[in-house]
Amino acid sequence: MKTKIPELSPNASPADILRIGIEAAGGPVSLACSFSLEDVAIIDIAHQAGIKLGVFALDTGRLNEETYEVADALKVRYHLKIEWYFPRHEDVEPLERSEGLFSFRESLDKRHACCQIRKVEPLSRALKELSGWVTGMRREQSITRGDLKAIERDTLNGGILKINPLIDWSEEQLVSYSEEQSLPKNRLYSQGYRSIGCAPCTRAVKEGEDARAGRWWWENPENKECGLHRR
Ligand code: SF4
Repeated sequence: MKTKIPELSPNASPADILRIGIEAAGGPVSLACSFSLEDVAIIDIAHQAGIKLGVFALDTGRLNEETYEVADALKVRYHLKIEWYFPRHEDVEPLERSEGLFSFRESLDKRHACCQIRKVEPLSRALKELSGWVTGMRREQSITRGDLKAIERDTLNGGILKINPLIDWSEEQLVSYSEEQSLPKNRLYSQGYRSIGCAPCTRAVKEGEDARAGRWWWENPENKECGLHRR
């Protein structure tokens, strides 16, 4: 029987959302960590509130060096054990041999094919072990995230719970929290990045652009998801 989505008070804090979501999931729950400000804040919030939360990460093979540095800093600060997931070599080797190293820039289909191999398939392996997963998604990040819920059912991944504790946080709140707690911060942010992803598909954004404008900047705004957060 599927677990019920719990009711949340409108004033629920990120720690409340985490605690209630994990309890409702009734089994192992992990954070999908991309080493963004959001994910680091969630690790810190869970740590300070004494909430047990697993952490996994997808190494797509195309991450920035700066991102690995954050992973290492988290390991030291929180004694964190990160479960890494990689793409299957039997998928990624033929992709690179037949399509080249930058096929994702040629069409939306080719970009989705790369994301499927490097992100979506490893994610589905990670989620098979879990009753729930935690993400750093926030409503204000982009037009694709406006109708997010704090706790929702992930129907594309076996109906497990998806918990979004920072759903209502603004970017200002996030940055203040990170500074107040002196959290490890990806050096890409000081170069104008506002979202952390694969190196060839993410860039710094201009003043006034939304936080995810630097992802797949050659595509339309409504396409800016990689398949990890299809709903
Ligand atoms: S973000 Fe780019 S490099 Fe990363 S998996 Fe998707 S298409 Fe491939």
